[in-house]
Amino acid sequence: MRIGVLALQGDTREHLAALRAAGAEATTVRRRTDLDAVDALVLPGGESTTISHLLREFDLFDPLRDRLADGMPAYGSCAGMILLAAEILDAGAAGRAATPLGAIDMTVRRNAFGRQVDSFEGEIEFAGLDPPVHAVFIRAPWVERVGPGVQVLARAAGHIVAVRQGPVLATAFHPEITGDRRVHQMFVDIVTDGSTSDDQ
Ligand code: GLN
Repeated sequence: MRIGVLALQGDTREHLAALRAAGAEATTVRRRTDLDAVDALVLPGGESTTISHLLREFDLFDPLRDRLADGMPAYGSCAGMILLAAEILDAGAAGRAATPLGAIDMTVRRNAFGRQVDSFEGEIEFAGLDPPVHAVFIRAPWVERVGPGVQVLARAAGHIVAVRQGPVLATAFHPEITGDRRVHQMFVDIVTDGSTSDDQ
């Protein structure tokens, strides 16, 4: 199984390192042929308006939305979480707004925590992970609505900050920068388990 990391903008290197530490084969995705060659994709933290713009510039937006609609596993952190949503609030200025890929039935508010405090960190309870995860939030979104098919994995200050819908995982924080590989391991396991059940 080959996991791609979208490498248009954002903290690509940290995700590649985290995936490799979790035992995955990981590679960058910048163009259509790269996307066609991977089984799953990580959308990194960065700036969702810029990544959206570059997805359109590189003719990747529609192919990526189609792969996600076909059930490709994906993991988005922060800006990546925003892009995976079905609806984005405070998406940015018209013409440069972050555009949702619709992979998770959720509404996300961009820069939601950022309006209160630019960045903060702390230990949060995360379903299936013990001990709690040290979570770093940087101008982070939060999730304001989830559909019935969405599992809430973590909250911070009362707001939903980690979710899963089928093979798609998203966190408002950045596990790729803390050295704790458990969230990436969870994603690698989702990708691997999916391929195992397909083979049966
Ligand atoms: N505020 C950024 C955005 O809107 C996300 C920040 C991040 O990825 N750390 O995309």
